[in-house]
Amino acid sequence: MKKHNFYAGPSILSEYTIKNTAAAVENFAGMGLSLLEISHRSKEFVAVNDEARALIKELLDVPAGYEVVFMGGGASMQFCMVPYNLLNKKASYLDTGTWASNAIKEAKLFGEVDVVASSKDKNYTYIPKGYAIADDSDYFHFTSNNTIYGTEMRKDPDVKQRLVCDMSSDIFSRPIDISKYDIIYAGAQKNLAPAGVTLAIVRVDALGHVDRPIPTMLNYATHIKKDSMFNTPPVLPIYAALQTLKWYKEQGGIAAMEKKDLENAAILYDEIDRNKLFRGTVAEEDRSIMNVCFVMNDEYKELEDEFSKYATAAGMVGIKGHRSVGGFRASLYNAMPKSSVEALVACMKEFEKQH
Ligand code: PLP
Repeated sequence: MKKHNFYAGPSILSEYTIKNTAAAVENFAGMGLSLLEISHRSKEFVAVNDEARALIKELLDVPAGYEVVFMGGGASMQFCMVPYNLLNKKASYLDTGTWASNAIKEAKLFGEVDVVASSKDKNYTYIPKGYAIADDSDYFHFTSNNTIYGTEMRKDPDVKQRLVCDMSSDIFSRPIDISKYDIIYAGAQKNLAPAGVTLAIVRVDALGHVDRPIPTMLNYATHIKKDSMFNTPPVLPIYAALQTLKWYKEQGGIAAMEKKDLENAAILYDEIDRNKLFRGTVAEEDRSIMNVCFVMNDEYKELEDEFSKYATAAGMVGIKGHRSVGGFRASLYNAMPKSSVEALVACMKEFEKQH
């Protein structure tokens, strides 16, 4: 039976990515060797590394003065790398969930942290608005998409301070005005590649303004200077990332992804709002296009397990909500086919008929 992959991450990748990566694991670039057993300094892999970073610049329209870097350590490593490289005295953070809180915790090791607003009071079901950012903050940090709670900020904010964003779970789902940002970072394992590589887009002149010494591996400048080859890069995720990026380009680029993502999300949210059994968990204006969180209405709560089993039997995979929210979460990343969203909706309709 066809499976429909709604995992939140690692998550669905395009068939193009999977097929080409599998082929390269067998025989990379016609070398007669596996991608897993070649030198990262071979000209064939250097070409992959260069092309992937160039394609990110092209697809996201990255202006001059920025560099794209690949690193290890996941987005969680960026939680400390950002303050290490940018925080002199004080930084401002918006607390919109678990990942934002983790970033705040790390930043506190480096200086004063001003949490400008938090939605913790309502279990992170909305994005706070109307907060002020101190003029003397070294930067403002926010999480554009809150993977666990299903809230998202889809507009690039206008702030006077330097701007840093964790875009781990919605990068490549909409055009971004990169010029508003100083650092954007993202783990690969949602809209790019398998886990193991982390992407950052760095405004080069934002670096070099802190007094502390920075360990070599945690210094963005190291990775920029060495074209993301200071140490052995994770060749398989980078190769897979290149395939995903090529697929994005072939599909019409990031604007085409956004159109498709908005359509997919609308199909599912419409059903959640229509179906008597379910309700969304998030303030409507802050609903994420990538992670759709919903629960059973109070009068049908006891049907949750039954629906879970019913959906699993119908081929749905990964729709269990995160333990801090409960209920269900369907992640609709860029590689999600409309047919899978329609299959989930059909399942919800059918279950409603039976109850
Ligand atoms: N930030 C966001 C928004 C995430 O969704 C995640 C993981 O799901 C992380 C950070 C942590 O990423 P990693 O596991 O790559 O450290």
